[in-house]
Amino acid sequence: MTAEKPRAESSHGRPPESLWLATTPETDYEPLADGLEVDTVVVGGGITGLTTADRLTDAGRTVAVLEADRIVESTTGHTTAKLTSQHGLVYDFLTSKFDDERARQYARANEAAIDAVESRIDDLGVNCGFERLPAYVYAASSDDVETVRSEAAAAADLGLPASFTETTDLPYDVPGAVRFDDQAQFHPRKYLLAVAESVHGDGSHVFEKTRALDVDPGDPCEVETERGTVTADDVVVATHFPFYDRNGYFARMHPEQAYLLAVRLRGDPPEGMYYSTASPADTFRPCTVDGEELLIVGGQGHDAGENHPPTSERYRRCEAFAREHFDVESVEYRWSTHDYFPVDRVPFVGRAGPGQEHVYVGTGFKGWGMSNGVAAGEILSELVLTGDSPWADVFDPLRFEPGASARRFVEGNAKVGPTASITTRTATFTPCRPSAHT
Ligand SMILES: Cc1cc2nc3c(=O)[nH]c(=O)nc-3n(C[C@H](O)[C@H](O)[C@H](O)COP(=O)(O)OP(=O)(O)OC[C@H]3O[C@@H](n4cnc5c(N)ncnc54)[C@H](O)[C@@H]3O)c2cc1C
Repeated sequence: MTAEKPRAESSHGRPPESLWLATTPETDYEPLADGLEVDTVVVGGGITGLTTADRLTDAGRTVAVLEADRIVESTTGHTTAKLTSQHGLVYDFLTSKFDDERARQYARANEAAIDAVESRIDDLGVNCGFERLPAYVYAASSDDVETVRSEAAAAADLGLPASFTETTDLPYDVPGAVRFDDQAQFHPRKYLLAVAESVHGDGSHVFEKTRALDVDPGDPCEVETERGTVTADDVVVATHFPFYDRNGYFARMHPEQAYLLAVRLRGDPPEGMYYSTASPADTFRPCTVDGEELLIVGGQGHDAGENHPPTSERYRRCEAFAREHFDVESVEYRWSTHDYFPVDRVPFVGRAGPGQEHVYVGTGFKGWGMSNGVAAGEILSELVLTGDSPWADVFDPLRFEPGASARRFVEGNAKVGPTASITTRTATFTPCRPSAHT
């Protein structure tokens, strides 16, 4: 279901193109032709949807993946592809604003996601550059050292392979960093195109160019598409921003855009993956694709609604950072995408809302959807298959943690004003960003 693509040349003078898309074939799965009945419909062919579909077909369920465009081209095709339980600075926050138990669920779900991808790569026999290596968040200034030290302590207390260090393999000094061992990186499209091939067949389907328009959450559920209706016991909405939103997700997260380059260095790139405490954060990691050694470097994240400075300046700043810290020979690729950031920094994964017992959602991965998206796939498939998952609580889409989210709500509402009300399991409030999705 793939067709070869010509090799890309140097990035300058070319439109932006993701390294992952440039080094893999295009897909050509057929669209849905008519109505269909399966056990589960998965809407969205990114890492979340394909992982969910893979787990369900593995358990003997029939699945239809409905993808509006082409699989693994959207956010998942434009990521940095670090596969980590280290998500910037999050564990000190989770233990203080949620509780130890839920912080531990978050940690375990994401550690398990790394193992799950490694094991699935072995099963499928796919060569997708998976490698284990350490991940660091380093203090961009001495003011951040104590924050980084606290994060290392909180993460280690939760059982994560975390420690504080003043030593890295960077070509410049940093005042301190939190190091996580045994993290991973991979080529997400090489992996997920193999996953999709494995899902497709034996009564299960991947349909491309098939946009879902609405969900009837009845018993059975019905997913209306522009090409016919698919009937199923359960529906998983894995469309990045939930296209079906009766529960006010639009009001509880906002999109942030970020920018990446793949550069060729004179000399070797660092051996670890890095992220800084700067605002906006800098991110980089080594990468070898088809024998070519590159450094992926970027950041410049900003609220997706902000247009200044322009995109060209954001790329220029990424390049300036790369050239300031590394001996850059050439910029080979550049690309950009956005992700959704929940008000309380935890993704929404689970039953979509009241009265929709068989509709599930996975969204709000806040720039860490490689592991969180795989974790979501594991949790959602467990919920469909057994009705429960040991990690479900922290990700409950209907939670409301006043300590973790109130300030962001107040700020958001102050910016745009209320337009409607939504009700969660424990609270009623007004949306802060009525048109957060793009
Ligand atoms: C610059 C950047 C770098 C990042 N780097 C990392 C990283 O290093 N590590 C990490 O863990 N995370 C990273 N992330 C985050 C990660 O890439 C995302 O969280 C993840 O890819 C989201 O996957 P998804 O499957 O939920 O969404 P997507 O990949 O966007 O997939 C959703 C799919 O649903 C389809 N769709 C939408 N609406 C419909 C509809 N109505 N009907 C049918 N199909 C529909 C879309 O076409 C799309 O294919 C990064 C994010 C950004 C912005």
